[in-house]
Amino acid sequence: MDFEIDKELRREIEETREWGEREVRPAGLEADRNGAPLPIDHPYFRRYLEHGGGRTRWHGPGAEPARGSSGGGVLKSVIIGEEISYWDRGMTIANPGVGLPEGIVLASATEEQKERFLGPFLKPDRPRWASFALTEPGGGSDTANFKTRARRDGKHWILTGAKCFIGNASRADWILVQANADPEKGRSGQRAFFVEQGTPGLGGFKIEKKMGLKAYESTSFTLEECRIPENNLLGEAGRSAEKSDGGEKSSKGYKSTMSTLNASRPGVAASAIGIARAALDESIAFARANDLVKQVRVRDRLELFQRKLRAAWLMVLKSAWLADQGKPNIVEASMGKVYAAEIAQDIATLAMELLGVVGARGDHLIEKLYRDVKALNIVEGTGQIQRVIMGRQLVGLPR
Ligand SMILES: Cc1cc2nc3c(=O)[nH]c(=O)nc-3n(C[C@H](O)[C@H](O)[C@H](O)COP(=O)(O)OP(=O)(O)OC[C@H]3O[C@@H](n4cnc5c(N)ncnc54)[C@H](O)[C@@H]3O)c2cc1C
Repeated sequence: MDFEIDKELRREIEETREWGEREVRPAGLEADRNGAPLPIDHPYFRRYLEHGGGRTRWHGPGAEPARGSSGGGVLKSVIIGEEISYWDRGMTIANPGVGLPEGIVLASATEEQKERFLGPFLKPDRPRWASFALTEPGGGSDTANFKTRARRDGKHWILTGAKCFIGNASRADWILVQANADPEKGRSGQRAFFVEQGTPGLGGFKIEKKMGLKAYESTSFTLEECRIPENNLLGEAGRSAEKSDGGEKSSKGYKSTMSTLNASRPGVAASAIGIARAALDESIAFARANDLVKQVRVRDRLELFQRKLRAAWLMVLKSAWLADQGKPNIVEASMGKVYAAEIAQDIATLAMELLGVVGARGDHLIEKLYRDVKALNIVEGTGQIQRVIMGRQLVGLPR
């Protein structure tokens, strides 16, 4: 085990820090003050592309090397992700790029699909987004009971249903939509479909109101008899499942989606750590400026949270390291996510307490971090769901 950060990664962290301070923090604050995501023609996004962002990790013909969180393994992306979230977590999701569905597409899509859907992100001519739609108005945790349906019609699929709280959905070139093609089979009937923007029947986009992370859009939309070509069904596994395989291959499609989310959990946990570190730094600065550091109880709580933050960070690093080794990390990823999100909330709460009336005014960075941090305990599997996963593993029950 090696805790040393090599020269190349150190340089990337420094670059990220410089970019974060100069560009990301001001953009995130601007969106928060406006109470709305930055518009797609905001100059920030153009600068982000010029900076080398918004590219896919897929190495298609003519690919430019990806930068920052897009390059290297999970451990490296987690370290860079923590740093950028320190400056603004909302902007990390608002940034153009393939985002959340990229891992799923890389793991499961056909080469033809990668070319069609990731190809435009190799050298993007303009800021481009993609989106991943799992959650439905009836609930996001109980994936076996999702109501969005897919039915076969000749060489097409017809999708019907509704999704909500979907990141970047209205600005995305395509949305990877989870729908059930065989509800009797429950989870194993689930498939993922590429739904391209402009497809008739895809509409009703409505940006949701959020307490924090206002820099990116979380959007609800509907699919009304939305007809898409058969080769927009993600991957081979789902397609061959059409030839009546008893659900075995189709369940592979669902499992691969879920295991990709497992791999992305260290990244969510790292974001919580980044927000918490920012809140701790701001608290210390505020305590110093207001002479609160003389009080032993204040110092004691700051120290306690620094200790817990470091413990959480070690958990997250271990779960990322396991993912890079190709080893199972279900428990570590869940544990890291739960612990980091909870500690981050505790730290933001302490920071608000220190501010007193200054926090109540609603225009201090700490107050924004306090609102931003809550979502990290909700997205990609809530804290409760992670605890369900860990509890079942602990006593040897299937997931
Ligand atoms: C900022 C933000 C961004 C998001 N981005 C996306 C996105 O891009 N794509 C996407 O698909 N979704 C996205 N989501 C949705 C997110 O994944 C869901 O909110 C999450 O899965 C929980 O679903 P729910 O909110 O419908 O809660 P529900 O599933 O309705 O659950 C409600 C409560 O009950 C608890 N609960 C449910 N079942 C159990 C159980 N079996 N045992 C114990 N407790 C249980 C949950 O933990 C939760 O506290 C986003 C959400 C937020 C807040």
